[in-house]
Order: sequence, then structure tokens, then C-alpha cells
Amino acid sequence: MSGSKIVFLDQTKMPTNYYNISADLPEPMAPPLHPGTKEPVGPQDLSAIFPMELIMQEVSTERFIEIPDEVLELYKISRPTPLIRASNLEKYLDTPAKIFYKYEGANPTGSHKTNTSYAQAYYNKRAGIKKLVTETGAGQWGSSLAMACKHFGLECEVFMVKVSYHQKPYRKTLMNLFGAEVHASPSNLTNAGRKVLEADPDSPGSLGIAISEAIEKAVQRDDTNYSLGSVLNHVLLHQTIIGEETRIQFEMIDHYPDVVIGCVGGGSNFGGIAFPFLRDKLRGDHNDLQVIAVEPESCPTLTQGKFEYDFGDEACMTPLLKMYTLGHNFIPPSIHAGGLRYHGMAPTISHLHNLGFIEASSYNQSVVFDAAKVFAQTEGIVPAPESSHAIKEAIEQALKCKTEGTSKTILFNLSGHGFLDLGAYEQFLNNSL
Ligand SMILES: *Cc1c(COP(=O)(O)O)cnc(C)c1O
Repeated sequence: MSGSKIVFLDQTKMPTNYYNISADLPEPMAPPLHPGTKEPVGPQDLSAIFPMELIMQEVSTERFIEIPDEVLELYKISRPTPLIRASNLEKYLDTPAKIFYKYEGANPTGSHKTNTSYAQAYYNKRAGIKKLVTETGAGQWGSSLAMACKHFGLECEVFMVKVSYHQKPYRKTLMNLFGAEVHASPSNLTNAGRKVLEADPDSPGSLGIAISEAIEKAVQRDDTNYSLGSVLNHVLLHQTIIGEETRIQFEMIDHYPDVVIGCVGGGSNFGGIAFPFLRDKLRGDHNDLQVIAVEPESCPTLTQGKFEYDFGDEACMTPLLKMYTLGHNFIPPSIHAGGLRYHGMAPTISHLHNLGFIEASSYNQSVVFDAAKVFAQTEGIVPAPESSHAIKEAIEQALKCKTEGTSKTILFNLSGHGFLDLGAYEQFLNNSL
């Protein structure tokens, strides 16, 4: 690498297509089912809450899908994001492994979520929609969508999981700054929210509940759509810009990863970095490539969930998705990695895990914060608690290389920075997590 630490990709060489992994699946996925009839859903069933162009992406099996020019222009505010060699971390661990991370915290609202928020706002605007309603966990998705809506002149309303609303008040401020209306969920504004509050007035909320509230609001008006920040095929599709860039960056330094790692909530940042590399493995190249999805021990969807049809939300309004799930009524403990508190998993990732192409691991909150501290102290970037799950796994893999005396190339996605998570870091330093 001739001594340089960052692999910069010129904006003129940016990928202009998203990669659609549906084109390369060895077996087709089980279709989503209508919540009432239990028959496969058709495009028309989804048109009450999504614009047709996103619905067509959801079901497409075309391998590459062109990124619209207007979206590409917005990406250029912060993309290509840097691929960085974590050489100080390598030295600290005294490992022969080479560790690289893709830094998605460089995006405007501090995470990978802008990759899909721009695209979703764009397609909704083109369909004549005036307002988007969504849920958010720790607030990264809500702030990304609020920013994209402001850009395209759309209104934005956000149901934010109550525990995060109180843990991360500045995320709410950020959403308000971009002009969005924000409610703590469960709220009194919807039937779904009121029902949860009747049963448990102190409910900390969950992404499943917030999704129910947002969909209930969105279906009430023709000019209003719903927007989801993860899980669905079209969301993971938009995130593949991450891995497509990384492939080119590795080509520039004549490298290819042996291990690709990402944290998983609904699976979008992981799918984003991993799918463009999995494409090779699915076609029989790079058969040794290891792909690892990392989750919190307290919300162990892939490692302990069941692979079956379940609802994406608490109130059973979404189509049934075949996925690893802890059950749509599962309320995860109030951990600080709010973005990973989701009961289900993207159907594409679930399918590929079931077929053996994706491994999964889980770690508890305290070892994850230990890893975050090591990373901050060696590399200087404060990672989001969510992303720190990927850091923990990368460190484990690097230490394994040290024991085995192998020099693998380890790639992980640093999905976001943790500057709005300093409250959690303060508790960690005071031993009161
Ligand atoms: C939202 C978020 C996640 C989890 O969501 P995925 O869809 O699984 O990527 C992870 N990291 C950060 C920084 C996030 O904002």
C-alpha cells in the first residue's frame, strides 16, 4: 500500500449501480405473505405505503440497478467513504492480520443510513408523495430520513423508540433541526401505541411497536407513505453502494478480504458491505471468504431465533416475512445499541444464513464497549455502540490470526460514529452501564 493508510476513491470512479443479490441466490427466497389472506403479496398490496419504483426494486431479480443521477449527486457530498487500514489497532493487538474498515460515519448524519434515505425520498417525491412517516431506534435512521425529506421538500414524521428518545435526546434535536416532527413510541397518537400503553404504561418501546405506529399513520392519507430504514430488499439494495465502493478500493491496492464483518440490526449495513463480496462466493469464486454478522447477546436474532414466517411489526400490519425472528412481540432489553434492537432480520440475510453462506456471532454489551474503547484509543474514532459489535468480532478474528500465525485480511463496516452516544460512554466509564 506504499505506506498510505487511507484508500481514497476518486468521485469520477464511483460505482453507478446498486447490486441486487436476488439475481444470484442459489435457491429462490420464500415470498412475503399477505397478513390477512396468507397468500403471496403482489405489488398492488404494497402500493398503499410504498411508491411503485421501490416496490419494483423490492421484487426485482435484475443483477444491477442504476443509481439515479439526483441520488448520485447527493452521495457525492460524502462518498466514496474512505477505506482505512487500522494499523494502530493491528500494532496494539500485535497481530499479523491486516484490518481494514469502511467508514460510514463520514456521511452527513453520521451513519450509513443516508445511502437509502436519499433514494427513498427521491422515489417518493417522483411518485407525487408529500409526506413520509417512519420509525427510528436510536435516531440515526430518523435523522437521515428527515434530512433527505428536507432536501426533496417532503414532510417527515418520526416515531422514536421511547427508551432511545430518553437515552439520546440530541438525536431528536437533530431531527427537529431538519424539520421533522418526532414522537416517543409507544404514543397515544395511534391505536397500536394506545394498546401497548394500556397493557404496560412503562413500556420502553421497540422498533416493532414504532413500525406499527408509523404504518398506521401512513395508511390514513393518500399523499403520505411509509418508509423503512432496514430489513427490506430495496433498503439493502441501496446500501450495496458501500460494498461496491469497497471492492474497487481493494482492487486499487491489489487486495481481497478473507473475512467481511458487519453488525446486524435489521441487516442493512451488513448486507451493504457483504453482498457485493458474497456475489463472488455465490458464483463459486473466493469459496474461502468468511462473512460474519454480529448481533447483541440480548437480541440474538440469527444465533437464537427461529427461521419462520413472522410479522415485521408488533401489531401484525406488515406482510409476513420468512426470516430469523425472536417473535414480533419480543421487547429487547434497553441496551445502548438501539439500532440493533429488532426482533427480525432481513429475509435475504436470513435465507443466506440458512443456506450456510453467512455466519453469525453475538456479544454482550460490556465486551462490546471494551472493544469500542480500544478502537477509540488506537484509531481515534469514537464508534457507534452498534458498529462496535463489528469491531469486537474483528478484534477476535485478528487475535485468532495471531494464535494461528496467519495473516488474513479482515474487513469490517464502521457503520457510524458515536458522538451522540457519549451518554452511554459516560455510563461505561463510570461502570454503570
Ligand atoms: C441503524 C444502524 C445500525 C443497524 O441497522 P442495520 O440495518 O442492521 O444496519 C447499525 N449501525 C448504525 C450506526 C446504525 O445507525
